[in-house]
Amino acid sequence: MTLELINTGSELMLGRVLNTHQQWLCRQLADLGYVVTRQVGVADTVDDIEQAVREALGRADFIITTGGLGPTSDDITRDRIAALLGRKLSEDPAIVAHVEGFFAQRKRAMPASTRVQAMVPEGALVLHNAHGTAPGLALHVIPNPFRADGKASWLVMLPGPPRELRPMFTNQVAPLLREGLPLEGDFVCRTLRTVGIGESFLEERIAGPLKPLTDAGLELGYCAHTGAVDVRFVARGCGADADVEEAARIVYELAGEHIFGEGDDELEQVLLGKLAERKQTLALAESCTGGFIANRLTNVPGASTVFLAGVVTYANSAKEHFLGVRAETLKAHGAVSEEVAREMADGARARTGADFALAVTGIAGPGGGTPEKSVGTVFIALASASGTKVINPVNRYDRETFKQVTSLQALELLRRAMA
Ligand code: ATP
Ligand code: MG
Repeated sequence: MTLELINTGSELMLGRVLNTHQQWLCRQLADLGYVVTRQVGVADTVDDIEQAVREALGRADFIITTGGLGPTSDDITRDRIAALLGRKLSEDPAIVAHVEGFFAQRKRAMPASTRVQAMVPEGALVLHNAHGTAPGLALHVIPNPFRADGKASWLVMLPGPPRELRPMFTNQVAPLLREGLPLEGDFVCRTLRTVGIGESFLEERIAGPLKPLTDAGLELGYCAHTGAVDVRFVARGCGADADVEEAARIVYELAGEHIFGEGDDELEQVLLGKLAERKQTLALAESCTGGFIANRLTNVPGASTVFLAGVVTYANSAKEHFLGVRAETLKAHGAVSEEVAREMADGARARTGADFALAVTGIAGPGGGTPEKSVGTVFIALASASGTKVINPVNRYDRETFKQVTSLQALELLRRAMA
């Protein structure tokens, strides 16, 4: 089975927009058991789009195009594909009504140009757009004049904006794909998410014990993110369920303390869930992460039941004023020290009344290092009813990666304390 992806958009070719559809769609498809065999990006020009679609139709069973379904002059995907396949376009009154309703609900005037989005190629299935105006379109190209083997192809056009494309894929394209091109036999895929262990160490622990299963056909993959490693199992055919279950059991047994979740779980989400369950609260005192930990936490819906407050205390005076860090401690040990991290966490906990307080202070770099405290030095403190614990990693990265890694370590320190 061949699946191809065509991402249209001059903004992609100019580097103005990151092609997140490529990653997101490939990931979704892989999790459903379908692997994308080719992906191309093309500018919004007639020739480029036509050539890409023509080529894909010559090879693939299922083709997804993204972008170019909107109302502006550079949105030409629908027209070009209809022309290529010789399908007439006609206006669909249900789409016109949806577009009118969309603007009316938002008390906005409807530009005349948006009506073009209601044009549907002959025989196309309309994919309702619950979050925008341009619907997606699915065409079953049968017979397919571009294919030497004469096989039919599906051609699905999705709108460019990710918040429109994603639910449309999940709710409408995935079922269409499963029905139109069913997988042969079972397919099971499971991802365990770990933190606090490098991928080589993780592999050392689990690869040997998993060998009988991988030898028998279980696919095992490691995917390292900044500060975290995913372990992914894929099995197909008879017994797939049991094999993946057994593989997961082995990894939980050998590295369970590092597993914070599965699938799309994020550490902050898991942590907030745990805290909410226990009716416990959290406060933050951040220096070198500049509010990044607070950002992560507040990205999770419902964070307000757990997260009480976060302060970014960059200057020494702010650490004294907002957290009660003592001037003597700062003077004797420096702002980046175990003692100051401890007082920051204690101060945040005392002043907010939270059950837990995390504090971070460190040297993000590139300047500011000393012979005793090199660039990347971080102190992370966790204050709780059972005392205050401090860890001291060295995170030598660019500033952004530094923030990501440090924030993950802070959250992991709390997760371990709650285990
Ligand atoms: P619209 O009705 O908004 O014009 P459209 O279907 O015509 O939608 P495009 O005009 O191609 O889609 O893209 C709209 C916006 O969607 C782009 O400006 C971009 O922000 C986002 N977008 C498009 N393609 C991608 C992509 N491959 N990855 C991430 N974002 C994308
Ligand atoms: Mg557009």
